[in-house]
Amino acid sequence: MELGIRGRTALVTGASQGIGRAIALGLAREGARILAVARNAEKLSSLVEEIRQLGGDAAYLAADLSREDGPRKVLEAAEAFGEIELFLANTGGPPPGQAEGLGPEAWQGAFKQLFLPMVELTSGLLPAMKRRGYGRIVFITSLAVKEPVENLALSNAIRAGVTGYLKTLSREVAKFGITVNAVGPGYTRTERVEQLFAHRAREAGVPVEEIYRDLEGQIPAGRLGEPDEVASVAVFLLSEAASYLTGQTIIVDGGYVRSLL
Ligand code: NAD
Repeated sequence: MELGIRGRTALVTGASQGIGRAIALGLAREGARILAVARNAEKLSSLVEEIRQLGGDAAYLAADLSREDGPRKVLEAAEAFGEIELFLANTGGPPPGQAEGLGPEAWQGAFKQLFLPMVELTSGLLPAMKRRGYGRIVFITSLAVKEPVENLALSNAIRAGVTGYLKTLSREVAKFGITVNAVGPGYTRTERVEQLFAHRAREAGVPVEEIYRDLEGQIPAGRLGEPDEVASVAVFLLSEAASYLTGQTIIVDGGYVRSLL
């Protein structure tokens, strides 16, 4: 299938590792120019090197999107890199915790990591997308938007807010040739998940294999997902081929979520 990504300019945040990195590479393989953003310059530099070895064009900016000046710095770098047509909005997940007892600082921290910078970046990118009459925006959220995950109250609540935002926006900008969607990963084998599971195993005093076995038993596919499996769905949503698909969340979870829709 011709995806219509070649030669387009993409901004990918949270690109230094895991799902964001896999999406940056997936877009680069399809011929997009990539501006990669995250906090770790060393990892971003190795991503850019990998893209250049594939024959692609990429640059990076090390920035913390939770800081007040983070989104502005990214928008300035994006303007210098070229008009962004594809935006993949992603940062790391917030800390665990139950709904009861989380203080205002925790809520504000999660809001500043998962919601505010994505809205600021989107607002900054929209005028050029509207002018061009073309844009693709994809948010990485979580299976939590269909089925809240226990002990992840911050993620469950804030990602619901992101979903409300993107659905609303999708209807406002559809007439400009701009689509806005989300990909909700299920349990995906990234560095972060490996660290989390190792931590859980230490806490429970069991081998880490037992933690994986328990979870895999609950996933119809019988295994965790790979970052590339989430990336291929995001790349499709960021493609010209997905032109009539907007306001949707696609959950990539090996069948884990039980809800009908
Ligand atoms: P990860 O922690 O491995 O990677 C997150 C990326 O975001 C990194 O590049 C990190 O540097 C960047 N980042 C984090 N905070 C940032 C900030 N303030 N400013 C700039 N960059 C920042 O995460 P992942 O496993 O690849 O997951 C990506 C997203 O998908 C996360 O929001 C995660 O919560 C969500 N998710 C993941 C899974 C999973 O199983 N991996 C499941 C559901 C949802």
